[in-house]
Amino acid sequence: MNVMTLKNIRKTYHMGKIDVHALKDISFEVEKGDFTIIIGPSGSGKSTLLQILGGLDRPTSGDVIIERENISNMKDQELAIVRNKKIGFVFQKFNLLSNMTALENVALPMVYAGVGLSERKEKAKELLDLVGLGNRVTHKPNELSGGQQQRVAIARALANDPTFLLADEPTGNLDTKSGIDILKVFHKLHSMGKTLVIVTHDPEMVDEGNKVVKIRDGLIEEVN
Ligand code: ADP
Ligand code: ADP
Repeated sequence: MNVMTLKNIRKTYHMGKIDVHALKDISFEVEKGDFTIIIGPSGSGKSTLLQILGGLDRPTSGDVIIERENISNMKDQELAIVRNKKIGFVFQKFNLLSNMTALENVALPMVYAGVGLSERKEKAKELLDLVGLGNRVTHKPNELSGGQQQRVAIARALANDPTFLLADEPTGNLDTKSGIDILKVFHKLHSMGKTLVIVTHDPEMVDEGNKVVKIRDGLIEEVN
């Protein structure tokens, strides 16, 4: 089942008189249960692509279709709803709220989705169990290691049962051992049927996914 399609995506930044063609013609599809790695060197257009497929920025032309819904022409408000419901973001720098516990961080997206308190707590606890942090629910981010904080962030990203997880260099801020632990969590989620999209410059990541999209100079070099 198709969960996301990018069709002929172009993104041009106008810098005074100069046009920077960050994405030139990007098309690919993500199927339910795919573990997709988007890889490319610095400057190839990864951040731009991530912003567009996460609904954080709009392409200059082309279509982004998430579960049959074309988000390219949506109003900002509609797009914000799609993002909160359908996309679970995982960032390089975790982006947890420092004054909230692990459980409260994981529960937060459910507050915006209108889920009641007891259901939020129960679901957040389940998700922390899933990422191996069932014994850290009342810890605040600064009481957790980087790898543990990233696992909290993954649990948070899963809170509203998103269509797919979208991760930006998720192991980029971690030591080797913690990075491997995070990859184990992704593999577990993949085996459960979750759909994952990871954007990275790290060539070691290509073996992790079942689908690799290589980009260079704003174009797809290879998909396999
Ligand atoms: P990557 O994440 O792979 O390093 P980017 O998507 O950040 O690549 O950048 C792709 C190209 O677009 C680069 O040439 C970069 O300089 C340019 N670029 C990225 N963001 C902007 C922006 N906001 N304004 C102008 N040019 C940009
Ligand atoms: P990363 O490669 O770590 O994703 P960025 O996306 O911040 O880093 O930047 C990638 C490239 O895009 C850099 O060359 C940067 O100079 C350029 N860039 C990013 N944002 C802008 C911007 N607003 N205006 C011009 N160039 C930008």
